[in-house]
Amino acid sequence: MYRTNTCGELRLQHVGRQVTLAGWVQRSRKMGGMTFIDLRDRYGITQLVFNEETDAPLCEQANRLGREYVIQVTGTVAERFSKNSKLPTGDIEILVSQLLVLNASEVPPFTIEEHTDGGDDLRMKYRYLDLRRPGVRANLELRHRFCLAVRHFLDSKGFLEIETPVLVGSTPEGARDFIVPSRMNKGQFYALPQSPQTLKQLLMVAGMDRYFQIVKCFRDEDLRADRQPEFTQIDCEMSFVRQEDILALFEEMTKHLFREVRGYDLGEAPFLRLSWHEAMRRFGSDKPDMRFGMEFVELMDTLQGTGTFPVFNEASYIGGICAPGCAGYTRKQLDELTNFVKSPQIGAKGLVYARVGEDGSVKSSVDKFYTPEVLAALRAKMNAAPGDLILILSGPDAMRTRKQLCELRLLMGERLGLRDKDRFALLWVVDFPMFEWSDEEQRLMAMHHPFTSPKPSDIPKLDTDPANVLADAYDMVCNGVEVGGGSIRIHDAALQAKIFQVLGFTPERAREQFGFLMNAFRYGAPPHGGLAYGLDRWVSLFAGLDSIRDCIAFPKNNSGRDVMLDAPSRVDPAQLDELALDLRPVD
Ligand code: ASP
Repeated sequence: MYRTNTCGELRLQHVGRQVTLAGWVQRSRKMGGMTFIDLRDRYGITQLVFNEETDAPLCEQANRLGREYVIQVTGTVAERFSKNSKLPTGDIEILVSQLLVLNASEVPPFTIEEHTDGGDDLRMKYRYLDLRRPGVRANLELRHRFCLAVRHFLDSKGFLEIETPVLVGSTPEGARDFIVPSRMNKGQFYALPQSPQTLKQLLMVAGMDRYFQIVKCFRDEDLRADRQPEFTQIDCEMSFVRQEDILALFEEMTKHLFREVRGYDLGEAPFLRLSWHEAMRRFGSDKPDMRFGMEFVELMDTLQGTGTFPVFNEASYIGGICAPGCAGYTRKQLDELTNFVKSPQIGAKGLVYARVGEDGSVKSSVDKFYTPEVLAALRAKMNAAPGDLILILSGPDAMRTRKQLCELRLLMGERLGLRDKDRFALLWVVDFPMFEWSDEEQRLMAMHHPFTSPKPSDIPKLDTDPANVLADAYDMVCNGVEVGGGSIRIHDAALQAKIFQVLGFTPERAREQFGFLMNAFRYGAPPHGGLAYGLDRWVSLFAGLDSIRDCIAFPKNNSGRDVMLDAPSRVDPAQLDELALDLRPVD
């Protein structure tokens, strides 16, 4: 037996017991004639003691151990003289009688402790060492428990976990495909699935009724903190359901996961629901952070045409938020906010503010353009209390200005400590528009994906006013993060063909790309719908992480590289030859 116990297991009740442990040397300290070693494994840390007086050669051997050596020790559990209350095993130590080095280690490139001295690149290059750190390991443990709870829950509701292929044809979900050349079919390519969307729909046609899969999806997009080129979805689909059935079931699952995995009670009340239009109007976002208010107030009536400020008089939208208790912001703090909204990534032209004094008076950066009565009306409209700071943005494009105001709202929420990572606010955003206009492509694009069903009452508008057709689509949002989304699907071949037409597909191209689905719909497709959750995002929310990378064992960096495996990389010319591929020279 390599070990009788793990390094996280022994307590006072085990004192006197002879044990064998195996693990890594976290660190060693020599104090007088005693050597103390912290031995680490996945389960914790146990202190080992070597005493020069009782066994000098063994102590000498212990003194030669370096960090991260893998050792096996046998000894007796003893009560510690000076206990360490921070460690679950801190009441005991092992008086070692035998030591065996199972493997030596080179000095690791960074210290394997919670607060490591390793920079990001270095830790990613040696990710297997980084994963030995307790925090990173805890994230993977959480992920494991999360997946287990999902499987149990969905199993209890009759879902079958069914695998779908990774080498597929292109499935448009709005991103670029990763493609894989085929050797046996030269000149042809597989695409890696952006999601198993069409396959899960075919499983419904196949009568599987309830499907789920914890599955890798691949999208060749520019990366951000919450994006990876490959990521994991909890992908689900159900037959003979309406939107209400899906929302109810997944709301139940969400509450269950919060309770079981995060120890957080979301309460009995149903989740808040906002229509997409309402979310955009009140918060400038389709994934509003509902941990705090600071709702937008529209100020066109109050500030347009009621004074001589040309910017407001020419705007298509004027909106404000009210930051409680911030009226005392210094010039410098206000300049910071102005610079923030004017930064290239936000792109506003400027920021107007108004301080509400303790006596209720209003002093604003546009005072000279407005009478005190208008400023008092502004205060009333904003429902601002003494001590509040009113922040106002305006612009020629309402949607754009709302998005800018959303960023400012999030920043103020952050500054006021209202975005606490230990609190969770969930909601459904529903009634998404079916299409959005793409300036780049000069056509309507599916806002969710082309298989989403329009609201039945809006179907006649597909011909007359497609831009205003609403979809039976929904997103689940948690703390300003879209954790999942889905829709009721089209199950009728004619309606599906119509949607492809609105999206600008010729009938030939639609048949070429989606013939398999349209064919399937001719053989008795049941009404169906579903959704997919982003597992990485959800786990990182539970763990309070800023980036999904920290809950992925081997993530890619911001340029899509795996720095540990040094991938992507060039391939052998012989491999290219086999695939009948010629490469153009690249820098
Ligand atoms: N396949 C969709 C996605 O990846 C989710 C769904 O509609 O079920 O966003």
